[in-house]
Amino acid sequence: MTRMSMKKSPNNIDVQLIMNDKKTGIAYLAGAGPGDPGLVTVKTYNLLKQCDAVVYDYLIPDELITTLPENIEKYYVGKIGGGNSSSQTEINELLLSLARENKTVVRLKGSDPLVFGRGGEEAKYLAQNGINFEIVPGVTAGVSASAYAGIPITDRNHASWVMFVTGHKAKEKLVSSVKWDWIARGEKGTVVIYMGVSQIANIVPDLIENGMKDDTPAAIIERASFPTQKTHISILKDLPQTVIDKKIKAPAIFIIGDVVNSREYINWFGKKPLHGLRILVTRPADQAEMIYLKLRNLGAEVLPYPTIATRENLDREAWSVFNKIDISNNWLIFTSENGVRYFIKQMKDQGKDIRSLSDYKIAVIGEGTKRALAKYYLKPDFIPDKATTSSMAEQFIKEFDLKGLNVIRVRGNLSVTNIDEAVIKAGGNLIPMTVYETYYPVWGDELKEKIKSYPPDIVTFTSGSTVDGLFNCLDSNEINRYIKQAMLVSIGPSTSEVIKSHGLNVTLEAKKHTIPDLINELVEYIKSNPLEG
Ligand code: SAH
Repeated sequence: MTRMSMKKSPNNIDVQLIMNDKKTGIAYLAGAGPGDPGLVTVKTYNLLKQCDAVVYDYLIPDELITTLPENIEKYYVGKIGGGNSSSQTEINELLLSLARENKTVVRLKGSDPLVFGRGGEEAKYLAQNGINFEIVPGVTAGVSASAYAGIPITDRNHASWVMFVTGHKAKEKLVSSVKWDWIARGEKGTVVIYMGVSQIANIVPDLIENGMKDDTPAAIIERASFPTQKTHISILKDLPQTVIDKKIKAPAIFIIGDVVNSREYINWFGKKPLHGLRILVTRPADQAEMIYLKLRNLGAEVLPYPTIATRENLDREAWSVFNKIDISNNWLIFTSENGVRYFIKQMKDQGKDIRSLSDYKIAVIGEGTKRALAKYYLKPDFIPDKATTSSMAEQFIKEFDLKGLNVIRVRGNLSVTNIDEAVIKAGGNLIPMTVYETYYPVWGDELKEKIKSYPPDIVTFTSGSTVDGLFNCLDSNEINRYIKQAMLVSIGPSTSEVIKSHGLNVTLEAKKHTIPDLINELVEYIKSNPLEG
């Protein structure tokens, strides 16, 4: 027996998850799309946010993984440190054991799970072992390469068929089993080759000897749909040399056929201000989705690798004091978005609503904190002129008589104590409430592997702790190799101080210390000082 349950997804689209009454496990074999995180389907995106575990490959857009909540189990089964990926048997067994623990598992595969992916084999294994599964398609690389390179693969003036073919020889075979002679004789069509980089020098002569014109237009699209995508236009006979000259690396798609000529008119990709620049964003992922989106919309390839993260802390003692307060005119102080977010969550978890704050006045530091409050329809009563704890400490006690009032100071475990001290000195009854803790995440091998293959051009730091966190995630050799040569961007003087204290140089310090300003100033800077993307 199954029942349908409607869950609200994070983006408010209703998704139907079929759940078993006994909550037995289920595996979703889902496609992640080719690289641009925006190309994941809504269905897969929603499943990811709601699953218990995700098992993912190398070519998965990072953002889909790094923005997942901490409680979702994450298993990387791609190649580690340039070595081999987990074997298919190991992956099958992992899926089986997770599903047998009654978990909802997303098996996230590059682009589409079935097109030259081994989703079919995984599905068969699950079926043979009596595990429920569903398959969710994804945008396959050949289709995304066509769109992002501006090559209409079935342009009706040139092609009435398209063929997706593998260039790869199965390990156990000496020669490819593809009938290249047969493909060569096909006319008025388009050939799209996957996994062809290492074999193209063998494939091209086969095609030409069997009748395909050696000057047939051809394109190679590397890293399709990533901002660092490169498109190389050539002709059939020159493809092997182009691969050598341009040092083409996988993943790449070859498109062969007259349709390639249409690109001249419809090439649209690559015209944005930060096009092709790889920008490492060190801010906690759950607070960075807007930055990721903005940078991506400006054409950058975002490396969403947080160097600090936060987790909830329930301060029972402080809440029990809070719950007993019954006099009016009390104050709540918020100094960060995180403080607001975790405080409101904990209030809701206790069954309260926003009316429990009606007797409170609210003081905040900074526009970001103010915006976080506005999400809950709350407006601060006091904001100091400067977004620093010392100006809060000074101005707040000057402007208000706090004697005998309860002042709830909502904080993280690392917050400085100058505000607390000032409140006590002014006769307020300080109630510190630590609603979250900051910690340094550990970067798995897969992140290091990606940084090594494609180091960042730009690194953004939005607080001193993101700098310290980076030095915790990478050792000094790695810093020298992958970070030192990059352009380092800081949100303001105190963050810059920390960068310099680690012996690195700041190229750009935002004049206005907000994230939107930092991004605008970065765009202006790049306009006058273009980096080689
Ligand atoms: N299941 C995948 C294919 C996996 S096979 C799909 O549906 O696309 C791996 C091959 O896919 C790579 O060798 C390359 O040819 C192609 N590929 C995957 N992602 C790509 C990308 N972003 N750009 C170009 N080719 C890509």
